[in-house]
Amino acid sequence: MVIKETLEIEGLLINLERKRIKNMYLRILPDATIRLSAPERISEDYIRDYILSNLDWIKDTQAKMLKNPPKPKLMYKTGETHYIWGEEYTIQLISNDTVKKPYYDAEESVIYLPVRKRSTVKEREKALMELYRAEMNRNIDYFLSKCVSIVGKEPSEIKFRNMKNWGNCRKDKRITLNIKLAKKPPICTEYVLIHELCHLIEFNHSPRFKALMDQFCPNWREIKKLLNSDDY
Ligand SMILES: [Zn+2]
Repeated sequence: MVIKETLEIEGLLINLERKRIKNMYLRILPDATIRLSAPERISEDYIRDYILSNLDWIKDTQAKMLKNPPKPKLMYKTGETHYIWGEEYTIQLISNDTVKKPYYDAEESVIYLPVRKRSTVKEREKALMELYRAEMNRNIDYFLSKCVSIVGKEPSEIKFRNMKNWGNCRKDKRITLNIKLAKKPPICTEYVLIHELCHLIEFNHSPRFKALMDQFCPNWREIKKLLNSDDY
């Protein structure tokens, strides 16, 4: 059985749950509320001391959570904002027989995703990923000719995948790029491609590799930050 109470200690509201447990557990939830699970029979004085001794940690953690609120989960629904090459678009779902492939209208800033009525989040996400893959395919010749001429090395093959890393280069010179690069400003794809092409010279991230990056893409550190930011 769980008994719930609210305590006020030093101006902080504590959501206390008394349960059949042996130890106390203090948690700060993503919305900064404080939850304390405590053994059923423990005294309020003991709880008060416990909270007071953790006061700095509680306040620090709350401040951090309020500064970085959890991102709302993407639903890929009509009206939601997504990005192509760093530009903002609004999603519009369409369910008809004529449109089979996702596409976008740059002037209207609308991404059209063809999905069945009552589609799932997974299906809608898949449709957007298909659009990103098409964008990578459509633009790769431009990126390749630009970056190959900078680095002076050519991959044996280039592929696209929806994966965890932004890019990957294998010993057999095959380069894989993440299709989600199509979300980010084009400079990000250039940076990742130059990085992977540099691996055709230096197959690691040694100081020599970084010197190559400094030479071929002098502001790579800023671009890397842009790439990994939540802005797109
Ligand atoms: Zn690398």
